[in-house]
Amino acid sequence: MPSVIVLDKLAQEGLDMLEAAPGITYEVITGLKGEELREALNRFDGAICRSGVKITPESLEGNRQLKAVVRAGVGTDNIDKAAATRAGIVVMNTPAGNTLSTAEHTVALMLALSRNVAPAYQSLIEGRWDRGKFMGTQVAGKTLGVIGLGRIGLAVAERAQGLEMNILGYDPFMTEERAQSLGIELVKTVDEILPRIDYLTVHTPLTEETRNLVDMEQLEIIKPGARLINCARGGIYNEAALAAGLESGKLAGVALDVYPEEPCTENPLFGMPGVVCTPHLGASTEEAQTSVATEAVELLTAFLTTGAIRHAVNVTPLDPKTLESLRGYLDVAYRLGRLAACVQPSGLSSCHLMYRGEIAGKDTKLLTSAFSAGLLEGAMDEPVNLVNAEVVLHDRGIELVEESNSDMGAFRASMSLELFAGDRCQKFTGALFGKEMPRLVAVDGQRLEAYLDGSMLIFHHHDLPGVIGSVGTIFGEHGVNIAQMAVGRTAPGGQAVGVLNLDGAPSDEAIAAIEALPQVTCAKAVNLPAAGELPHWLS
Ligand code: NAD
Repeated sequence: MPSVIVLDKLAQEGLDMLEAAPGITYEVITGLKGEELREALNRFDGAICRSGVKITPESLEGNRQLKAVVRAGVGTDNIDKAAATRAGIVVMNTPAGNTLSTAEHTVALMLALSRNVAPAYQSLIEGRWDRGKFMGTQVAGKTLGVIGLGRIGLAVAERAQGLEMNILGYDPFMTEERAQSLGIELVKTVDEILPRIDYLTVHTPLTEETRNLVDMEQLEIIKPGARLINCARGGIYNEAALAAGLESGKLAGVALDVYPEEPCTENPLFGMPGVVCTPHLGASTEEAQTSVATEAVELLTAFLTTGAIRHAVNVTPLDPKTLESLRGYLDVAYRLGRLAACVQPSGLSSCHLMYRGEIAGKDTKLLTSAFSAGLLEGAMDEPVNLVNAEVVLHDRGIELVEESNSDMGAFRASMSLELFAGDRCQKFTGALFGKEMPRLVAVDGQRLEAYLDGSMLIFHHHDLPGVIGSVGTIFGEHGVNIAQMAVGRTAPGGQAVGVLNLDGAPSDEAIAAIEALPQVTCAKAVNLPAAGELPHWLS
C-alpha cells in the first residue's frame, strides 16, 4: 500500500482527500531536517511539501523508497531537483492552483482602474467629496485584449465575457478552432491587437519574446485611452513606456501586480494619476491555498496508483543505454521543435512526425516528446521537458501524429515534420550526420543541407538570378555574416528555398528588407542552440 508523508502544514481539505484516498496511508510530520528528514523520506513512497522543508542532496542520500515529491504551490527552490533526478524521484508542482485567484485579481484591477476606486477612496480619506472628479468608464461593450491564453488568460477572458466585454486574444499556441469555440477573436500578432483594444492584459511567462512586449514603439499604435493591466510577470510592459504613455495621455490607466524587481516599494509609477498597484497579490487567497493542497494530493495519488505524471519540474533519468543510442536523434527532434516554434509563431493546430530508417525501430515516443519539449520550451510558465511536453501540447488542443517507416529513403535515418496551421502546411526534414551533427535536409520537400544550429534564415523565393546576391548584400549592409548557405529547388526557375547559417541573429529590419525583395515570398529567422549545446535533460 503506497504511503505518503506530508512535510509542511497543508490545508485541511488536502488532508481530508488523503484520508479518503483508497489504498493510501499517510502521516503528517512537519519541521523535519537533517538525519531525521533523511530517515523519514526513506520510509515513504511519496511526499507533499510547501516551501518550509528543505529537500537537499543529503536528505535524499541512500534513498531507495521515495518515488515522488509534490510541491503544493509553484516555486520549487526548496527541493534539490538534480539530486531528486539522480535518485529517480519525480518532482511535481501545482501551477493551476492559483489560476482563478489570479484571474479574479486581474478583473478586480481592471474594474478598479475603470472606476477610479483607489484615488476616490484616497480623496475621501483626505476629507473631500469629489464626485465630479472621478467620472468612470463602463467595461460592458468594451474590448479586452488578452495576450497569453493559457490557464489564467482563458479564465480572465471567460470572466470578462461575463461582464459583456469583447475579447481579442493572441497566443502562439492557441488554435483558431479552440479560440472560436471560446468566443475569442484570435489575432496573429501583438501589433494587430493594440489599435483595437480598450483594455489590455498579459498572461504569459517572462521570456525574451515577451519582455518589453509593450514598449515605446507599441505606444505609437495602441488605441488612445487604453488601460493596461499586468498580473503576470514584471518586465512584460516596459515601465518607462507606461510612464511616458500616462504622461502624454495616450494611456488612460495602468494597473500592476508584478514588477521587474520584487519586493518593490519605490517605483516612478506609484502615485501617478491613473495608476493602481498591488504587491503581487494575484495568488493570495485562502481558496488558492486550499486549491494547491488538493491539487498536490491529486497529483501524488494519481502518480502512486497509476504512474501518471503531470506538472513534473524535473525529469526521471533515461536509462543510459537508451540515452546513448538516441542522444543524437533526440537532439535533432528537439531542434526541429525549436525550429517549428520560430517558423510557426501562431495558429498551429497539428504536427505530424514521420520517422524513417533505423530510428523507426527505436523509442520514437521519446523522440516525439523531445520535439514537443523544443516546441513549447520558451512559451510555458512551467518547465517543459520529456515527461510533460506531450501532455502540455495536448492541453493546448494541438494534435500530435506520429508515424514510422523502416525504409531508409535517402538517409540511414531521418525525421520529417509537417506543421499545419489553418490551410497552410510547412514541412521540414532533419537527419543526423555522424553521431552528433544535426542537419536540416529538406524544407517543403526541397532537398538541401544546412546546419541545424545557431542563427538561421529560411527564405522562400523564385529561382531567378540575383536573389541570393541581393540577400547577401542586405545582410552585408546590416553587418550579419553568412557562415554557410544551402539552396533547394523543385526545378530551375521555379520555387526555391534558401537556408542560411549566420554568425549572429539578424535584426528585424534586415529580415523586413529581405522580405521586401520582389522575388522573395517569405523569410523567417530561426534561433537554435549552438552546435553541441544540449538541453539539460539530454546532457
Ligand atoms: P500558462 O503556462 O498556463 O500560460 C502561458 C501562456 O502564454 C501559454 O498559453 C503560452 O502559449 C502563452 N505565451 C507564451 N509566449 C507568448 C507570447 N510571446 N505571446 C503570447 N502568448 C504567449 O501560465 P499561467 O498559469 O496562465 O500563468 C501566466 C502568468 O501569470 C505567468 O507569468 C505566471 O508566472 C503568472 N502568475 C502570476 C501570479 C500572481 O500572483 N500575480 C500568480 C500565478 C501566475
